Amino acid sequence: MKQDNMMGIPVDALTYEEILNDVSVYLKNKKKMTAISVNPQIVTEAKKYPEIVSFIEQSTHRIPDGIGIVLVSKLTKGPITSRIAGIELMTKFLAYANEYKKRVFFYGAKPEVIADAVKNIQHKYPNLIISGAIDGYTNLTEQEIVSQINQEKPDFLFVGLGFPRQEQWLSRNVEQLDVSIFQDVGGSFDVFSGHVKRSPQFFIDYHLEWLYRSLSNPKRIGRIFQLPVFMWRSLLWKMRKQEGSV
Ligand code: UDP
Repeated sequence: MKQDNMMGIPVDALTYEEILNDVSVYLKNKKKMTAISVNPQIVTEAKKYPEIVSFIEQSTHRIPDGIGIVLVSKLTKGPITSRIAGIELMTKFLAYANEYKKRVFFYGAKPEVIADAVKNIQHKYPNLIISGAIDGYTNLTEQEIVSQINQEKPDFLFVGLGFPRQEQWLSRNVEQLDVSIFQDVGGSFDVFSGHVKRSPQFFIDYHLEWLYRSLSNPKRIGRIFQLPVFMWRSLLWKMRKQEGSV
């Protein structure tokens, strides 16, 4: 698998088809797949969380989830040419689970949000088995959550606690979980629940979802600078690396 590196964080050149082909192989061989989003926010902030850096290094599929990653790779003649959006990948995983009657488990989001996400997903994908769902604000202990998931033996586990909680939680628990396919899904349950709308198609088509989300949520307005800052820093990092100074 070809990979690039963004300021020390590995990210893989992948297509949806390749990941879905791997899903069949991993399920058949009972191997663990960790499909983890690598986006500009994670690359910029990951250094603060060494456990996340090492979790990403050990993950099987580090997906280029952000146009900034694709642009930096293209500008430096790297191997990544297209984006894998986390929510799109989750949708494809759900469709796969529906087709092959697989078991899925959800962990994350507010109680009313995850309840609505379960309803909508079950309606849209009637053949997949939702073996359980736990909201991201539960009073259960981490060990209780792990036991509950293991009792249900899901094929897929989607964790949506936002960065850095979901990566930290996965890094602590993947080993002890009896699950094959893991994905960190950020705010995707909010979108599946209908509580949050995805950006209009125009912004998706022009890779401007980050801009729409920053502008439409006052709490995220600061993130508008994240992309240019990320690109500038990554390009500098790559230049220095070429010169051998990092
Ligand atoms: N979330 C959660 N538990 C928490 C904090 C957040 O389940 O303790 C959920 C939140 O409800 C949302 C998702 O994590 O569904 C992403 O949260 P947020 O938008 O804050 O993260 P970001 O998009 O900034 O990574």
